[in-house]
Amino acid sequence: MASTKEKLIHNLVSDPPSSHSKVTIVGVGAVGMACAISVLQKEMADELALVDVIEDKLKGEMMDLQHGSLFLKTPKIVSSKDYSVTANSKLVVITAGARQQEGESRLNLVQRNVNIFKFIIPNIVKYSPNAILLVVSNPVDILTYVAWKISGFPKNRVIGSGCNLDSARFRYLMSEKLGISSLSCHGWVIGEHGDSSVPVWSGVNVAGVSLKTLNPDMGSDSDKENWKEVHKQVVDSAYEVIKLKGYTSWAIGLSVADLGETILKNLRRVHPISTMIKGMYGVNDEVFLSVPSVLSNQGITDVITMTLKKDEEDRLKKSADTLWGIQKELQF
Ligand code: NAD
Repeated sequence: MASTKEKLIHNLVSDPPSSHSKVTIVGVGAVGMACAISVLQKEMADELALVDVIEDKLKGEMMDLQHGSLFLKTPKIVSSKDYSVTANSKLVVITAGARQQEGESRLNLVQRNVNIFKFIIPNIVKYSPNAILLVVSNPVDILTYVAWKISGFPKNRVIGSGCNLDSARFRYLMSEKLGISSLSCHGWVIGEHGDSSVPVWSGVNVAGVSLKTLNPDMGSDSDKENWKEVHKQVVDSAYEVIKLKGYTSWAIGLSVADLGETILKNLRRVHPISTMIKGMYGVNDEVFLSVPSVLSNQGITDVITMTLKKDEEDRLKKSADTLWGIQKELQF
């Protein structure tokens, strides 16, 4: 007796269709799920895979998203502790790890998260040898280096979300000061994500009009408009959000989905993201820092050379030295 399904459907192909734009998110905590919902809302993936070590939470999050399928355009949402579920991903976003405690610096997290990466990265490589890795877990610049080393992937395919969020925060705060949309407020925060990031004041502009030309003191202590405070708020705001709600999630989720869209749609947009900068800006060690990078479905293909002031370049170099000082002690 034919089933209702058999009576309804006359099947033409035996193999299920394979995915072309599969995204995996490792870690379904606050950040991972904010990334997941943002990726789904952007309708850029035909499959989403979630991985975590806490099985109940993982299954619950997967089911909750699946129940929203009617309102989404990602036909397959899967999850498992077993990495075979991630097979053939185009993009793998790593958000797993211990999160910053109130008042804890990002650098403090490092060895705890390196140990977690020693398990995650080889599993990802095994099932998706051609994927692009996008590291979000903190300290993001160091963990991007760790992911690169463990994976053996070429440097173009290992990226840190880096200053993408810092620059978004900067542009939001600039927009509040000027009363103009963030989209039209241009400014780049580069270098190390977080406490030591570097605002490039010479590049801050609206419609190509340099604000530094209008206010030559911009970014300095003698600036009567105190633009330096905008960058200080960029640095302080993560700590403030963590103090207020326990973690940050929505903005990083949105910024990761923006990067994902550039990758999966091969847009070649320029983003301030963490890449291996040995040989640039006087840096001689294998460290990852954020610089404006051309992003595509091959990962980072090119880096834009910024005209930096001496003190900006010095600050990049200092971050690079600090990161290398930590990296060379890591066990993995
Ligand atoms: P969270 O504690 O809510 O979630 C972390 C998740 O990782 C948990 O679900 C945990 O079970 C999972 N996990 C732990 N070990 C794992 C393993 N071996 N395999 C798979 N999953 C594992 O933390 P969160 O608030 O989501 O933050 C995640 C990370 O993102 C932190 O490192 C945080 O500092 C970082 N973060 C980065 C940025 C950025 O701009 N780069 C912004 C915000 C947060």
